[in-house]
Amino acid sequence: MYNVAWVDNEKCIAEKGCRLCIMYCPESDCIMLDASTKKAIVIEPRCKGCDLCKVVCSTHNAITMFPVDVITGKVIKGGVEAESAALGQAYSG
Ligand code: SF4
Ligand code: SF4
Repeated sequence: MYNVAWVDNEKCIAEKGCRLCIMYCPESDCIMLDASTKKAIVIEPRCKGCDLCKVVCSTHNAITMFPVDVITGKVIKGGVEAESAALGQAYSG
């Protein structure tokens, strides 16, 4: 099982200029600015579950990692983050 990032629009402050997750995500075109909502949005098929976005958004805590069902490929919203050796954990101390 692996994880993908999800942005809580209630907590994301991208409309005020924050782009931290977009700048730090190592995958191109993976977190984008949603032009209509002015919030960050994750393109789930491109997400590698590295956790870096979650780490850099720790002040606003707008990003949650959710597991993906390996059979259906669907994101289990509300599911418990699967264990992973994610890159971001190396930065979170
Ligand atoms: S780092 Fe957090 S608050 Fe900033 S744009 Fe990304 S999700 Fe929004
Ligand atoms: S978990 Fe990693 S790959 Fe996925 S959106 Fe966050 S920084 Fe990008």
